[in-house]
Amino acid sequence: METVLSGMRPTGKLHLGNYLGAGINYVKMQEKYNCFYFIADYHALTTHTKASELNSSISNVLAEYLAIGVDPEKATIYIQSHVPQIPELYLILNMFAYKGELEKCTTFKEKARKEGQTLNAGLLTYPVLMAADILIHKANKVPVGEDQKPHIEMARNFAQRFNHYYETEVFPMPDATNEGENLIRVPSLQGTGKMSKSDAGDSAIYLIDDKDTIIKKVKRAKTDAGPTSPNQTKPQEIENLFYLMKLVSSAETLSHFEEAYNNCSIRYGDFKMQLGEDMNQYIAPIREKYQSLINDRAYLLKVVNEGGEKARAHAQKTIDEVRNIVGLNSMNI
Ligand code: AMP
Repeated sequence: METVLSGMRPTGKLHLGNYLGAGINYVKMQEKYNCFYFIADYHALTTHTKASELNSSISNVLAEYLAIGVDPEKATIYIQSHVPQIPELYLILNMFAYKGELEKCTTFKEKARKEGQTLNAGLLTYPVLMAADILIHKANKVPVGEDQKPHIEMARNFAQRFNHYYETEVFPMPDATNEGENLIRVPSLQGTGKMSKSDAGDSAIYLIDDKDTIIKKVKRAKTDAGPTSPNQTKPQEIENLFYLMKLVSSAETLSHFEEAYNNCSIRYGDFKMQLGEDMNQYIAPIREKYQSLINDRAYLLKVVNEGGEKARAHAQKTIDEVRNIVGLNSMNI
């Protein structure tokens, strides 16, 4: 059976982008594969999150995983920092990651532009830690959003280099996946860019937003003055709203508004109201399940304790092999 691995950073609440880009596949894939889903708390440290915030974000993401339908009976759910084999593999893989390629990574370049000389080394080596997350379980498939594609490519490079240098096939090549479809990028409500946890305010719909909040955010989404000629091309911000509607509404609703846009009779007020209602309906079961779980500390702890144990045992097998391959097995001296 193939192995699946993926994780999310506990840097705030999860939004529709996290869910539709990756989380929805966590649930589908647990039926068919050996799945490992983790909460990427070490990754969150690169942005210097406050300890108390990090703590509460970890339990949020955990409860959100369970609320979207990740089942601890079917998948292994754990916290990254509970598995010391990951940072050990990260250290070893750092020897196979070139400074030049890390500096060329788009996400790093963006951050470097903003932060300059004070940019921490953890951000530079972020793709190496991500490679360790994947390779420690010898994962074949990694369900992620489109933004993560370059990082998976880098994980393949490090794995290939390691395999080649030691003349081994210890690491399989991981593939980014959206279960047979192209990887997706859920747009922000602000008209440009992707929906993101770091964007303040109204650009993201969180899985635990209440109905009023959702409708308020959708109402504030950027629109234009409306179409003036039949079948005209939609500007980006309108295209984005239609894309969101495609993701959460029925095919009939979507084609009704497509038609209205194409014959210039669309009223954005109605369109947005429908989108807000449908988004609310879409996430209401997740929100309700989250609310029933978030205060059940004993259960949350049980899930990550048991998941951690399984993840450590599985990871240890890889680390033992890797130590042997690189000559770090002290039993041989
Ligand atoms: P992060 O919050 O950066 O840890 O991302 C967790 C997962 O959500 C990753 O697989 C991302 O690719 C995915 N993701 C985050 N934002 C979006 C988005 N706007 N559209 C699609 N996928 C996303």
